[in-house]
Amino acid sequence: MKLTGAVLMAHHLLQARLPQAAVIVDATAGNGKDTLFLARHANQKASFWIFDIQEKALMATKNLLVAKDIMINGKYIHDCHSKLDRYISEPIDIITFNLGYLPGSDHTISTQPSTTIKALEAATALLAPGGIITVVTYPGYQIGYQEHCLIKEFLPSLPQQQYTVACWEMVNQIHNPPILYAIERREGSS
Ligand code: SAM
Repeated sequence: MKLTGAVLMAHHLLQARLPQAAVIVDATAGNGKDTLFLARHANQKASFWIFDIQEKALMATKNLLVAKDIMINGKYIHDCHSKLDRYISEPIDIITFNLGYLPGSDHTISTQPSTTIKALEAATALLAPGGIITVVTYPGYQIGYQEHCLIKEFLPSLPQQQYTVACWEMVNQIHNPPILYAIERREGSS
């Protein structure tokens, strides 16, 4: 396998787990590329929860799946991912966060450090044993950098008896490329 950037690496981590996953969350729908990837590799019986604060992102995601002729059992939630535990009460197998702003759109409508941390708290609490969360952060712009710093501070506080946390970072590239964090809930942890 070639060394790749954060988003592709997140996909690599998720791909092998998708066929067994029953509950899958895309916490930042955007243009739908991540949802499309998840849907292509998931079991047809899986249920999807897809969040975005922008209606047009949810529409773009739905339209992309239709254009690619992919059907999912999915709920599209026009709300902040920090409220995910108001919508989902079952254990989640896969949650993916691709933070930042919608490419080609208003850059001020971006994920925010405080709501991202709330979302990660909710996501880690709902994560099924053996489940995984991937988080791609974008430290190359101001809010993205602040968000990244807060995430870097928050994740080491997760107890190692319950969670394994890893980071994938390109260390010789200019312009602060995206960074991937992956959080796995240990099998047998409650
Ligand atoms: N997954 C997307 C794709 O494959 O195209 C890329 C996601 S884009 C980098 C980030 C998305 O997060 C934007 O569409 C933005 O509207 C959304 N977003 C920002 N704040 C959010 C929040 N608090 N809750 C849910 N989505 C949010």
